[in-house]
Amino acid sequence: MLLNRRDVLKLFGAGAASLALPHGARAAAAPRLVIVGGGIGGAALAKYMRILNRDIHITVIEPNPRFIFCPGSNEVLNDEVSIDDLTVTYDTLRHRYGAEVIQERAVEIDYAGHHVLTSGGRRVPYDWLAVSPGPQFIYEAVEGYSEALAQGDFPHAWKAGPQTLRLKKLYQSMRPGGVVVISAPPMPYRCPPAPYERASFMAAWLKRHNPTAKILILDSKPDFIFQANYEDYWRDKFGYGTDHAMIEWVGSHEGGTVRQLDPAAHTVITADGERIRADVINIIPPEKAGRFAFDTGLTLGRDWVPVNPYDFRSRKDPNVFVLGDAAEADPMVKTGYVASNQAKWIAQIIHGEMTGRDPGNPLWTNNCVAMAGDDYGMTVTDTYRYHGGKIVTQETLIANPSHNPHLNALRASIARNWQRSFRRDIFE
Ligand SMILES: Cc1cc2nc3c(=O)[nH]c(=O)nc-3n(C[C@H](O)[C@H](O)[C@H](O)COP(=O)(O)OP(=O)(O)OC[C@H]3O[C@@H](n4cnc5c(N)ncnc54)[C@H](O)[C@@H]3O)c2cc1C
Repeated sequence: MLLNRRDVLKLFGAGAASLALPHGARAAAAPRLVIVGGGIGGAALAKYMRILNRDIHITVIEPNPRFIFCPGSNEVLNDEVSIDDLTVTYDTLRHRYGAEVIQERAVEIDYAGHHVLTSGGRRVPYDWLAVSPGPQFIYEAVEGYSEALAQGDFPHAWKAGPQTLRLKKLYQSMRPGGVVVISAPPMPYRCPPAPYERASFMAAWLKRHNPTAKILILDSKPDFIFQANYEDYWRDKFGYGTDHAMIEWVGSHEGGTVRQLDPAAHTVITADGERIRADVINIIPPEKAGRFAFDTGLTLGRDWVPVNPYDFRSRKDPNVFVLGDAAEADPMVKTGYVASNQAKWIAQIIHGEMTGRDPGNPLWTNNCVAMAGDDYGMTVTDTYRYHGGKIVTQETLIANPSHNPHLNALRASIARNWQRSFRRDIFE
């Protein structure tokens, strides 16, 4: 059964003095919110839930003791920031926001009994469960590619950490005049402009240290966000469109889709059967919802988790919210900013349910940035509303290409500051 806002209010009564619990839940000393995944979506939910409500017991289940932010991780590739700069612990969530953090993997949901089972054998009871496990990579979409290769000499680095450092080492130690291939995935995937940001940062480093090297972006899409901005910048800095270009981009309509990897020959094979040998191969695989969502049946046979577009309750069970990259929330893009907006909204829904107050109509934004270099940044603001039973884009404001160097540098500085303040917004 799916509950919408009105059902919930009818069930518990607007303005009810007593603490309302979701249907089927037993009364407890404090209502319990359990969050699977302490990444951007999960951590934002824990923090903002506490800001809204002092009484709720919050538990985050996350196997890693630290979280490494993906936003900003392309800058690790040209030495502008370090992985340490992007790494946070769960201390603030524990101590300032009073969340219990269980450092284990969630393995199962007992939907009827309202428990999450962990890798350490715990049964963690919940009144509401929120799941934000991020995506997993579909390695098999590129024949010959695998998780083992990604952890070795063919890192995708689409999860910041050791693979980011490996990719940096590989391309920075490439022979003079070497070739980097970046294979960009089809939509939807996390952070649509990031493959092009990555190419730009690598090119800036190569221009200084290996000026005859080349970066070939093979794309599974016919176009990409901020394309005009990036192409302008590449033309200006890297001879884009000429015979001596350092960056070349091949869209899917020109045979850019990579279908196969021959690791022994260091070669990718495109949909058209073209074999391209490269010194460094960075395949960013297509994505689907994280494994936990599949193992627990939340995906209902789809690639992403279907949710009620008003409140992000899963279609499988209304006491289980799903947010972040794993949720099927078209037309929202898969970004950390969107995940954090969904988190704030879910916190309002739960607070509303506890207090009997109608949370009203949601307004979500994606206030996001990308960079091409330290002198060129881009911004985009999407505004989403709930209308006619679905999520709709109300407005998209995108920074148009500009030839004003001051404006471009200003946007770069906005982008860099955005990353810093965003990290603080989620984890401080
Ligand atoms: C290179 C790059 C650059 C990016 N730049 C930006 C940017 O500039 N701006 C922006 O807004 N977004 C950016 N993003 C996207 C952003 O990182 C994601 O959209 C965001 O992290 C999604 O949040 P999430 O909570 O869904 O997943 P994540 O942040 O990935 O968190 C998922 C968490 O769940 C945990 N988990 C998984 N399975 C389990 C389990 N079974 N039990 C317990 N825990 C589990 C994981 O360990 C992880 O900590 C970028 C991404 C990349 C790759």
